[in-house]
Amino acid sequence: MTAQFPLVPTDHPTPPQTREEILADPGFGRHFTDHMATAVWSPDAGWHDQRVGALEPFTMHPGAAVLHYAQEILEGLKAFRHADGSVWLFRPELNARRFAASARRMVLPELDEETFVESVAALVRADEAWVPPYGGEQSLYLRPFMFASEAFLGVRPAQQVTYCVLACPAGSYFPNGVTGVTLWVSTTYSRASIGGTGAAKCGGNYAASLAPQREALGHGCEQVLYLGGEGRRSIDESGTMNVFFVTRDHQLLTPGLGTILDGVTRDSVLTLAAEHGLEPVQRTIDLDEMRDGFADGSMTEAFAAGTAAVITPIIGLKSDDFALTIGDGAPGKYTQQFRERLLDIQSGRAADTHGWMRRV
Ligand code: PMP
Repeated sequence: MTAQFPLVPTDHPTPPQTREEILADPGFGRHFTDHMATAVWSPDAGWHDQRVGALEPFTMHPGAAVLHYAQEILEGLKAFRHADGSVWLFRPELNARRFAASARRMVLPELDEETFVESVAALVRADEAWVPPYGGEQSLYLRPFMFASEAFLGVRPAQQVTYCVLACPAGSYFPNGVTGVTLWVSTTYSRASIGGTGAAKCGGNYAASLAPQREALGHGCEQVLYLGGEGRRSIDESGTMNVFFVTRDHQLLTPGLGTILDGVTRDSVLTLAAEHGLEPVQRTIDLDEMRDGFADGSMTEAFAAGTAAVITPIIGLKSDDFALTIGDGAPGKYTQQFRERLLDIQSGRAADTHGWMRRV
């Protein structure tokens, strides 16, 4: 198999003026670029029919297994324009590795790292004009995904699988300045259990998150903070972000891997911790330890980390039996530092000392 994705250009590209209007206010996930990357897999032929072609609907049999049993995985990463006009991906090989790990959990065929990264890069090259300009916090969001396209109603791994990458211009997550979120600590729902699918990025995890998310909104909170572990007493992660806590004695705490998603932003923050004078610690964090920590001042900041918003300050926590405000309700010092540092690296304003950026 070759890692190449040859371009078959669309014959109905978006008029440049329409594209510029979209780029002026792209929002998130609403507008798609002109092309998509695709490949198909079968046991006999392996991966084949790789290309970047016109964005168009799939023709799918209603018996396609994904529609019934959700054998599907996804990824999310971004391309950034630098001041000289060049376009760069942030750590795409980590998304490739996580995609392969998700594939193993969902018994989907693996795509090797080189092919994954090339599929994303080939799409970005084809739709380069859709990468928002340098200067704002905008980017081109890339969505690789893979699903069981075989028409078969038996419950077993599909014998025909489709891979696709879509691209959407994404606006600044905080257009009016960085604001914090209050998280709802759900005791009704959990996101993952030991041996479950929490560490995989599969669509079903997000379907299951809609009811807890609605519960959180009903309590005036923006996102859910999930509990896990023995007796569901320890912190897992937020709906689409990993969580971090800063302690008074300069530790940066985050839950260890296992039932949570191995976030690319999480890994980057842990790597940057020392530069900011913090000791990174991955371990079980008890809910009571966190509550007491914010009450007695031994914990000073909390933030969430993920591709979409990069770093989101957590300014409050609520549950059935408690509510607490973190700090003075404004983003903490380290929270802001991590946010700026990551944005500077991604946008090319800071030197890429860790070798994280990959030019497309
Ligand atoms: N946890 C969950 C459940 C997520 O969906 C995401 C977003 N992919 C993250 C954490 C953060 O991961 P990343 O930093 O790779 O975006």
